[in-house]
Amino acid sequence: MKAVRKVKPEPGAELVEVDKPKVGSDDILVKVKATSICGTDVHIYKWDEWSQNRIKVPQTLGHEVAGDVIEVGSHCKRIKVGDYISAETHIYNPGDLTALLGQFHIGENMKILGVDCDGAFAEYFIVPEMVAWSNDKSIPPEFATVQEPLGNATYAVLGEDCDVAGKTMVIIGDGPIALFAVGVAKVCGVTTVFHIGKYDFNMEISKVLGSDYRLYANKEDINRIEFIKDHTYGFGADIVLDMVGSPQALDEGFKILRKGGRFTAFGIAAKSPCFVDYNNGIVFKGAQIHGISGRKIFDTWYRNRNFLASGLLDISPVITHLFSLDDYEKGFVEMMTRPRKSAKIVLFPDVKELEEAKKRLKKKSL
Ligand code: ZN
Repeated sequence: MKAVRKVKPEPGAELVEVDKPKVGSDDILVKVKATSICGTDVHIYKWDEWSQNRIKVPQTLGHEVAGDVIEVGSHCKRIKVGDYISAETHIYNPGDLTALLGQFHIGENMKILGVDCDGAFAEYFIVPEMVAWSNDKSIPPEFATVQEPLGNATYAVLGEDCDVAGKTMVIIGDGPIALFAVGVAKVCGVTTVFHIGKYDFNMEISKVLGSDYRLYANKEDINRIEFIKDHTYGFGADIVLDMVGSPQALDEGFKILRKGGRFTAFGIAAKSPCFVDYNNGIVFKGAQIHGISGRKIFDTWYRNRNFLASGLLDISPVITHLFSLDDYEKGFVEMMTRPRKSAKIVLFPDVKELEEAKKRLKKKSL
C-alpha cells in the first residue's frame, strides 16, 4: 500500500510502498477515505527539535482520519467490519490514574497516533479499538477527518462546565482550531465572539463562521483591550481562549479577562516557562485557568457527531484545500505558506473520494 513516511532523520517525507499493517487482537484495520494535515505533521515534516527527539524513523505520518473498518481483531466487541470511523489520537493507557478517573485524554503512558506509532497518511492504518469512534454515515469524510482538531476547539470552548451560553468570548489566534472554535462558540450560544488574528485569509473565514468582531494582533489601529472592555460594559470578556501561546497573547488575554472569568490555555509557547501577571491576571481576578491537551474521550466526540450530523455546525469554510495523498507535498507547502492562504487541508488516498469531496464543497459557498 501507499504511505507518506518519514524515512530518514531529515526534513521532508516520502511516498513509499509498504506492507499493509497486520491487525493485533485489540486493533482494527481501516481503509482510509480522508486524512488531514495537522500542525504536528508539519513539525515532523520540518524535522524540528521536538520531532528529532520524539519520532523514530521510519514512521508513517498523520493522525486525523476517517475511513471504513475492513477487519477487526479477535478481542474487539464494539467496532464492527463496515463501521465508518475516526480515531481519537490519544491512545491512553487504561492503567494510568487519569484513565481510572475518567480523564482519558491525558496520561503518563499515553501514545499518540502518527507520533509514537504509524499514522494514517496511507491507504490503510491500524488503531486500537478503544480509541475508535463510529461516525454518522451522513458526515462526509472531509468533515469526519477533522473531528480531532474540531474536538480541541469544542473542548476549549465548552471547558469543563459547558457554561458558555449568553456569555462573551475572546479567541486569540487564527489557525484552523481557532476558526473551528469560532463556529462552535456561536452554535453553543456565545453571544459575542471577539476574534484576534493576523491573517486576512483566515479572518475572512472567521467572519463567515459568525465572529462578531475581528481585531488584528499585528496592527495597532485600535486598542484591543479598551475595545473589548467598551463592548462588555467595561468588565472584560467572560472567557478567553489563548490559541497562540505568545507573550503578547498571554499578556492581552489576562488583561481582557473579566474578574472571575475563565482563561483557557491551548496555544503552545515557543519558549516555556513564560511570564504572566500572576497577581493581577490570576489571583486578584479570581480567574479559572483551564489547560487543554486533547479532547474529552468520548464526550467531545459525541457532541461533534451531533453537531455535524444535524447540520447545526457547518465547518465547510475551514476546509480550504483538497488533494490526493500522492500530492501530499502540495499540502505541506500550503500549510507552511505565510501569510497564511489555507486553513484545513484534506488528503485522499483514492482519487474518486477526492472528486466526490470537491463536488460537495463546491455546492457550499465560501
Ligand atoms: Zn491534529
